[in-house]
Amino acid sequence: MEIILASNNQHKVREFGRIFTGVTVKSPRDAGITFECEESGTTFLENAVLKAESLFRLCRKPVISDDSGLCVPALNGEPGVYSARYGSDELKRELTDEEKYLYLLQKLEGTDNRKAFFVCCMVLYLDDYRFYVVQETVNGEIADTSKGEGGFGYDPVFLIPEWNKTVAELDDAKKDLISHRGKAGRRMLSLLKSERILDK
Ligand code: IMP
Repeated sequence: MEIILASNNQHKVREFGRIFTGVTVKSPRDAGITFECEESGTTFLENAVLKAESLFRLCRKPVISDDSGLCVPALNGEPGVYSARYGSDELKRELTDEEKYLYLLQKLEGTDNRKAFFVCCMVLYLDDYRFYVVQETVNGEIADTSKGEGGFGYDPVFLIPEWNKTVAELDDAKKDLISHRGKAGRRMLSLLKSERILDK
């Protein structure tokens, strides 16, 4: 089975490829599609549906979308759905991943409550009238400083307390095992198998 991912983020494309065993996950570019979608929703679900619908309209083949982000309760849930754009309004330009997590660390300076969680909302569109939604989370803490070279986004500052490691210090298999995207992806995969859309 082939599914097109409603994202141009190469890190996400690679993670989907690893998680969706037995499925060929293609980026829009690899499928010969120019895909841009304004993430105008105020929830992960709204944005994930927006992305899946707009890519489905372009290709009319099975598509999957992922809207994800980091929520920090001590910052009233920031950056949340705005994780990809964090700090860009204040600094009047798009920040790099490193600048975004440094901006977050600065906002949390002097804060004892370092709890945080990632959210991943995944929407799989099969046709106009059939789609599935899964949303998952992973809990952790925001580290005092960044560590590790793996992953992307906020991984270098997202600490898994049980292992005393940031996600950027984990290998791919460990990240997939615990991550919001890994958990949502495995649920979606088992749904596809139970519905016999994919062979068991
Ligand atoms: P979007 O889903 O394209 O709106 O982007 C989500 C943003 O959340 C990314 O650009 C990252 O900054 C952040 N994010 C989502 N998932 C992860 C992850 O697995 N690790 C680190 N950062 C993530």
